[in-house]
Amino acid sequence: MRYCGHCCHWNIGWPIRCRFCARGLEGRLCARHHPNPRDPRLVFCGECGELLEPTAHAKFRLLPCLVAGLLGLGTIAIAGFIELVLGEENFGMAALIMLAVLVVGMRLVFQMLPPGVRSAMADIAAFFFRFLFVAGNKGRR
Ligand SMILES: [Zn+2]
Ligand SMILES: [Zn+2]
Repeated sequence: MRYCGHCCHWNIGWPIRCRFCARGLEGRLCARHHPNPRDPRLVFCGECGELLEPTAHAKFRLLPCLVAGLLGLGTIAIAGFIELVLGEENFGMAALIMLAVLVVGMRLVFQMLPPGVRSAMADIAAFFFRFLFVAGNKGRR
């Protein structure tokens, strides 16, 4: 989720411009939407030479990171719990529900995080997937 410092709206996902007031949220943008560094001394776009918009409006807020982190942990906890409770009786069913919970939860989390954090989260999620499945399969044999 991205906060616009100009109109004070939260944007879902990680848009390059605010969806409520169209201000640039990625550094300083030119008319052709190229992101440039936030340096206030810059005047022209480094990509195309268009005039840059006067200010950047992206603001870092800790809250979405915290919420996303908690949501991610909660999702993994719920998925692990389902696996533990249902895995004894019906492993295929448990794995299916677990998968659904993880997919929905992680999609929500990804919506709130910057793209760089997303790829790291994807790696962690993949690791947990493998861990849970390998542990579950070992228990069966
Ligand atoms: Zn805005
Ligand atoms: Zn440009």
